[in-house]
Order: sequence, then structure tokens, then C-alpha cells
Amino acid sequence: MSYNIAIDGPAGAGKSTIAKLIAKKKGFIYVDTGAMYRAMALYFLENGISAEDQDKISAAVQNADVTISYENGEQVVWLNGRNVNGLIRTEEVSQMTSKSSTNGTVRKKLVELQQALAKKENVVMDGRDIGTCVLPDADVKVYLDASSHVRAHRRYEELKAKGEPCDLAVIEKDIIERDYRDMHREISPLKRAEDAQYLDSSDMTIEQVADAIIKMCDGGL
Ligand code: C5P
Repeated sequence: MSYNIAIDGPAGAGKSTIAKLIAKKKGFIYVDTGAMYRAMALYFLENGISAEDQDKISAAVQNADVTISYENGEQVVWLNGRNVNGLIRTEEVSQMTSKSSTNGTVRKKLVELQQALAKKENVVMDGRDIGTCVLPDADVKVYLDASSHVRAHRRYEELKAKGEPCDLAVIEKDIIERDYRDMHREISPLKRAEDAQYLDSSDMTIEQVADAIIKMCDGGL
């Protein structure tokens, strides 16, 4: 039986940084489910499919083959055989993703892929619906939160370090908008699973959050 850690939470709560660190410490595979939804959204953007046209999105899903592999411990996302890691982190893709991920056909395809991975490997998986829908029987479930201001600040620092132009107020507004859509959609909205541990990372370091989650794995909480 594989061991599964599920981490959910809003945009910028630190899920991927923490999940990567835990995966490294425990020798598990890190599965970034957001990247899969982003690759799917990139397909829709590149093919001129509007976020509002749900029928077209549902029909196009069968033409978008999203898979993941690992290179030097890093997850690589492939869209129809093309490595799209470098193309899926733009604001345009983020906004499209939170709209196209409301689509049931998109979710069904990606959830199946995620469940198959978790069945055969020990994983730390992050997303919005992991503890509630994808891995309801996960060994450890965490809902990782932080204030929208702290989350926007982190994103701002990340972009600044990359030399990309950015505006803190715009970033915070985008994050709030995306969270609202993710929390209020009909299918698998972002919410804390009843049996998930709640962690607010606003005043915690990455190491502190990772250690707290690793303790949960040892039954230390
Ligand atoms: O985690 P990340 O910010 O990369 O996720 C991008 C978007 O993908 C989210 O805003 C959400 O709309 C969608 N998503 C989802 N379910 C997941 C992971 C991500 O709906 N499990």
C-alpha cells in the first residue's frame, strides 16, 4: 500500500514549496496537480477556446493529452508530447485555469490520472480537492492557509526575484478573485476536508510547516 499525503489550500499558501520539501525529506514523489490543470488551460488558450464556452472545453479535453514525468526529482508536465513547464505559470494561464478547472470533463480526466499515481507511489499531492475528492483516504490531510496579504507578498517577491514587472495590489486582487472562483464552483470546490489538519503558515517558516506535517505522518499530532 502506498502512503499518501494530501495538501490543499488557496493560491500562494506555500503548498508546492512545502510539498516539495516534504517529498524530498521522506523520499516521496511530489505531485503538483495545479500544473496539470494549468497544462489543460494552456491547451484551451492556444486553441482559441473561450473560458466561457464549457461545451467546447468538454469536447476538447479528449485532444489534450496531459502527462507528467520526473527529471532530477522535478515534475515535468507534458501537453501532447511537449514539455510545457516553462509556459504554465503566467497570470493569463492562472486565470484561465481557475475558469476551465470548473469543467467536470476536465476534472474527471485529471482526477483519474492523479488517483492512479497515488495508488502506485508514495506521494505528497497538492491542489484544491485532494483531501476531499481525489484521495479521501489519504494517510495525512492538511489544509494550508495564509492571509491573502501574506500570500500576495510571497508571490510579489517571487516575481521580483525573477525580474518580472509586478504590482502588489494587482497580485492580491487576482489571488482573491481566483480563490473566490475555486471556493464557489459547483464541482469539487476548495474547502477543508473534515478530517484535515488546519495550518496557517502566515507566521511560520517553510521548515516549521514541513516539520509540523512530517510530525503528523509519525502520528505526532
Ligand atoms: O495550485 P495552482 O495555483 O497551480 O492551481 C492553479 C489552478 O488550478 C487553481 O486556481 C484551481 O483553479 C485549479 N486547481 C484545481 N484543482 C486542483 C489543483 C488546481 O481546480 N487539484
